[in-house]
Amino acid sequence: MRFFIVISSLSKLLKYMYYIYTHSSMVEGKRCMQTNESSKEQKVKVSGLTFAQLKKWVTVDLGMKPYRAQQLFSWIHLKRVISFHQMTDISLSARNRLDRAGEITALESCDTIAADDGTVKYSFALEDSEVIESVLIPDSPRLTACLSTQAGCRCGCTFCQTGRGGFRRNLRTDEIVAQLYGLQSSSNDRITNVVFMGMGEPMDNFPALSDALSIISDDRGICIGARKITVSTVGIPGGIEKLTQLDGQYGLAVSLHSAVESTRLKLVPVAKTLPLRELKRDMKDYISRKGRRITLEYCLIAGINDSLEEASALAEFAGDIECKINLLIYNPVEGAPYRRPDTESVNRFMHYLYPRCQAVMLRRSRGSDIAAACGQLGPGARND
Ligand code: SF4
Repeated sequence: MRFFIVISSLSKLLKYMYYIYTHSSMVEGKRCMQTNESSKEQKVKVSGLTFAQLKKWVTVDLGMKPYRAQQLFSWIHLKRVISFHQMTDISLSARNRLDRAGEITALESCDTIAADDGTVKYSFALEDSEVIESVLIPDSPRLTACLSTQAGCRCGCTFCQTGRGGFRRNLRTDEIVAQLYGLQSSSNDRITNVVFMGMGEPMDNFPALSDALSIISDDRGICIGARKITVSTVGIPGGIEKLTQLDGQYGLAVSLHSAVESTRLKLVPVAKTLPLRELKRDMKDYISRKGRRITLEYCLIAGINDSLEEASALAEFAGDIECKINLLIYNPVEGAPYRRPDTESVNRFMHYLYPRCQAVMLRRSRGSDIAAACGQLGPGARND
């Protein structure tokens, strides 16, 4: 009888020890064998996790101590290493475990082309062979990174090379962040500003954009302040609203291109989903909730939106909005039926706006000789 009691107690003890082994959060690296198994196929893209997501992954999924999240975030986003094995203050067993469960995305430029004005366009090949483009724009003391959020774009703006090429896919957060680090690694100067004005409509990939904004502006990482980051949109339903709900005071640039509904529809077909009146309502809400002036981008195209009637509509539209107007001169793209306006039309348009609007700037088109300027990114866009 005593023999059976001993066997039974031993069996209970073994079961209890097994339970502790599989459920303990006290012992680093003992949990989530299942995660490891499944992650053989799909590793977690660790460089695309915000700090909060990283902490959850490290503690809940991997059963590691919370301080590991701080270490990881700093290695990936401050020191910008590309392998867990470079993280020398993390034990070898923990590094091996991280390596089995996750991966860090690094993008290497497969093509680089520099413009006379110092602007450099980088092409990055993604793991599925999609190629995206990002631009580094020096303008001392600033160095601005222009990032893409999609491979292609579904908005179909008729003057834009990306839009003409159609939509292929959304970029993941890790791919968006890796563009920035790829650009930073190519320059000795610190990137001071980020603009989401590359390929794609950022608001159409909002979850990835929102996480990228959180990572980029996090002071534990590369720490580019929210006020130094600008998100550009043509205006899609709910887009500006979602940006308004984020914590940071991100800059907002709206690609308006015309304040006449019919002209705007010709240039930005997706505008039919958000008429000017509703777009203006969203912009005003952003300004009042964030306490920040916004930017209206207006690309002047000969015979389309450069008349005095268009200037008058723009002045009226912008009249009661806290904004500055950036005028750009159209950069020709292959196959598009548009022309650059002549100097006289540009001056006439500008002089009409000057006394009527708060701030108007004729922006130098950076990198137009390498097809890196506004609306020129995308396949087949190179001018050389
Ligand atoms: S201008 Fe922007 S939103 Fe329009 S098609 Fe080009 S990338 Fe897309």
